Amino acid sequence: MANHLFDALFAPLAGRGGDLLILPDGRRLSGDTVLRQVARMAGALRGLGVVKGDRIAVQVGKSPEALACYGAAVALGAVFLPLNTAYTAEEIGYFLGDATPKVFVCDGAKAAVLAPVAARSGARLVVLNADGSGELADLAAGAAEIAVAEACGPEDLAAILYTSGTTGRSKGAMLTHRNLLSNAEVLVREWRFTAEDVLLHALPIFHTHGLFVASNVALLSGAAMIWLPGFEAGAVLRLLPQATVMMGVPTFYTRLLEEPGLTRDLVGHMRLFVSGSAPLLAETHEAWAGRTGHRILERYGMTETNMNTSNPYAGERRAGTVGFPLPGVEVRIVAEGRAVGPEEVGMIEVRGPNVFVGYWQMPEKTREELRADGWFITGDLGKRDADGYVHIVGRAKDLVITGGYNVYPKEVELLLDEVPGVAESAVIGVPHPDFGEAVFAVLVPQKGAALEPGAALAAVADRLARFKQPKAAVVVESLPRNTMGKVQKNLLREAYKGWFA
Ligand code: AMP
Repeated sequence: MANHLFDALFAPLAGRGGDLLILPDGRRLSGDTVLRQVARMAGALRGLGVVKGDRIAVQVGKSPEALACYGAAVALGAVFLPLNTAYTAEEIGYFLGDATPKVFVCDGAKAAVLAPVAARSGARLVVLNADGSGELADLAAGAAEIAVAEACGPEDLAAILYTSGTTGRSKGAMLTHRNLLSNAEVLVREWRFTAEDVLLHALPIFHTHGLFVASNVALLSGAAMIWLPGFEAGAVLRLLPQATVMMGVPTFYTRLLEEPGLTRDLVGHMRLFVSGSAPLLAETHEAWAGRTGHRILERYGMTETNMNTSNPYAGERRAGTVGFPLPGVEVRIVAEGRAVGPEEVGMIEVRGPNVFVGYWQMPEKTREELRADGWFITGDLGKRDADGYVHIVGRAKDLVITGGYNVYPKEVELLLDEVPGVAESAVIGVPHPDFGEAVFAVLVPQKGAALEPGAALAAVADRLARFKQPKAAVVVESLPRNTMGKVQKNLLREAYKGWFA
């Protein structure tokens, strides 16, 4: 029976002797081995009562077995629901209560704390440790392989991914087989993946970047993956010689640039470096090109939409931009209710087979953000330049409104970043008695530079309208970032909210 996603990603692994997963300890698992692991895992989950449409929530370390859980969920027609390993018991309680999964898979170290949480939502808890051991692995070892995948069409749900939810509650984005497969197909073509590729995979697989962009593209193209449990610069440098492609968040690139071992020779054989999930500074792009000879290909996507735009594989990869809409994906910039032309800033809206079908059990939120005609209101502000490249200016909720004027933080950050001695910056709005909000700058100095906030502000004063100029600045050692490399502006706003009080 046909299973839209399984038939494209997993079924072709049958009989494939070549490597699929290359592990840091030197072990190599063939495609066929992984497929059999998937089939046994599906048998184990079926034994726990999982049927088509059930949610399977997992909060586990990255291992081959964790990938097998994903494959097994797809095989059973279940809905895969990966959760960030950093979530606390309270947060897990919300997700399990909201999604009511049949099964919740977690690490043994957390099982005692999470058992009552799982019980409250009616989920059966099973353990899968980061080393691949645990009750679920034991069940899989003894389970009959499920060789025939459940019938699933393009519109069936494959996954629910919760948004990171820096404001309000996380929302569960419902993604269909079509959403995931159509995007993987486009990315394989655009980024020219083949079975000859070896993808260095150091991203977490609880997020769309590592799970769908990286893993699905490799699975669909028949490429191998160097399967690292997380990012560690030493391990990445050691393994890059075996890879042809790396996908990363911007912090991967800034951290690697700090390593003297990153040389042109080390990566001369590489075919492609991809970055996304957070803005890659133009400076990082240029520094990487200078050091390695490679222009990083930056792309733009999100949990709800998979990937939307990408810089070109063959054409100019323009630093500070996220490139062009992917084939089949429509992008428009909307301001004051109408689509605007080049160089005008507005809300980025996207439409296409990649766009999710709604938020789990939140019909109102869905209606607010996903228009009836299919356009999704991303919440990102951006523009297209005269050549059609999309630029992201920031999140709409990060927009600073000071004395009634709109200030796009990115515009100010780009100028501050050019000031000698500034490595990077974050511009936020903080409460101000006169202006409502005041523009406020958080600056990170370059290594060894003595940076004086007042001098840095003076340096950009004649380049910015008065209302856009930060009213104050502080110097900090580093910006708070989450695992995907995103600057957590909510933490900065909280830290400096009393500055002008
Ligand atoms: P997530 O749903 O966690 O993948 O976060 C998606 C958000 O990350 C987008 O809405 C953007 O705000 C941001 N993002 C993703 N890729 C980029 C990029 N290349 N440049 C700037 N922001 C990005």
